[in-house]
Amino acid sequence: MKYRNFPMVPRVVFGSDSFLQLGEILMPKRKNSEAPFIFLIDDVFEAHELVSKIPLLFHDQIIFISSEEEPKTAQVDILVEKIKETYSELPSGIIGIGGGTLLDLAKAVAIMLTNNGKASEYQGWDLVKKQAVYHVGIPTISGTGAEVSRTTVLMGPEKKLGINSDFTPFDQVILDPNLTVGVSKEQWFYTGMDCYIHCIESLNGTYLNAFSQSYGEKALELCKEVYLNDIPESESRDKLMMASWHGGMSIAYSQVGVAHAMSYGLAYVLGVKHGIGNCLVFQYLEEFYPEGVKLFKQMQEKYQIELPKSVCANLTDEQFDTMINVSLGLEPLWENALGEKWKNIMTYDRLLQLFKKV
Ligand code: NAD
Ligand code: ZN
Repeated sequence: MKYRNFPMVPRVVFGSDSFLQLGEILMPKRKNSEAPFIFLIDDVFEAHELVSKIPLLFHDQIIFISSEEEPKTAQVDILVEKIKETYSELPSGIIGIGGGTLLDLAKAVAIMLTNNGKASEYQGWDLVKKQAVYHVGIPTISGTGAEVSRTTVLMGPEKKLGINSDFTPFDQVILDPNLTVGVSKEQWFYTGMDCYIHCIESLNGTYLNAFSQSYGEKALELCKEVYLNDIPESESRDKLMMASWHGGMSIAYSQVGVAHAMSYGLAYVLGVKHGIGNCLVFQYLEEFYPEGVKLFKQMQEKYQIELPKSVCANLTDEQFDTMINVSLGLEPLWENALGEKWKNIMTYDRLLQLFKKV
């Protein structure tokens, strides 16, 4: 048995208003006045007071990016080209501020600034050869675990797949729960449920081990406190931020499962976003995760979250076919969920019937 030797985020700050320490954290990482810090920020913050607190110096630049669509490999290539054209030197660092979309973009841009070719060539496992530019992740919504993970999930020309590598994790993360204050109830639910589903899929998977379990159980406990107990809002923000972190750590050493495999298919064909996509499929997965789905429905009821219906109603056979192939292509997810003989359990037709419910 060969065990994986995987990297972790080496530095992390946690606490309300810890964001204000960003300038002090970046200063020693500044190479010179010609090597800027590039801040990739979710455009929801465009007129927000957060912008006035960004510690800009010399040629530092803010680039606002919409998270309406999930990050794409072509978008990463364009950003990298633009940065290379503008500056004579490589940036001192890339700082991603936002949800999973912006965190993943920041990781991918940092990687592609030092690795040749197109981002799509690196979708997969351990294809990155050179160390990325210094990169910092600052989540403004909790749940995906992208702040701690070893992947950056991108929509490419042929697949939705992460750049999984030892160079992907952030060099520094700032966890400031105050940054999550403005998130809408629906988005708070969808992205938080991503974390909840990470826990359920990790804890019920065949890859489970004590390492993953220890993080997964803690994250699940925190999710239950946040979504089922009526705790004060500030405590709830703190706890969900740590749930996201632990949920991400849990899957780092195991895998996700059926909901994620299906959600990737939905995203590829219909552009359904990750959080809501997971919820859309998870509600129909009681045969795989009976306890998890029961609790999910309780939480959904408590916050009166109405999920869209008949999302797959008007799909053509060809679209279903693509959706199923994208989903079945994620072999490690199925193997984790259903064991080595998963192909006998999750057949094409069974998956088709599941997608038709969504
Ligand atoms: P997101 O980043 O797309 O953001 C969701 C919405 O919340 C957006 O409209 C955004 O503008 C808004 N928002 C974010 N912070 C806000 C704030 N403080 N106030 C008001 N609005 C705010 O959503 P997400 O669920 O965090 O991330 C989804 C993405 O993460 C997907 O692309 C998915 O593939 C990726 N993901 C990556 C990993 C990983 O390990 N790398 C894991 C899971 C998901
Ligand atoms: Zn997820």
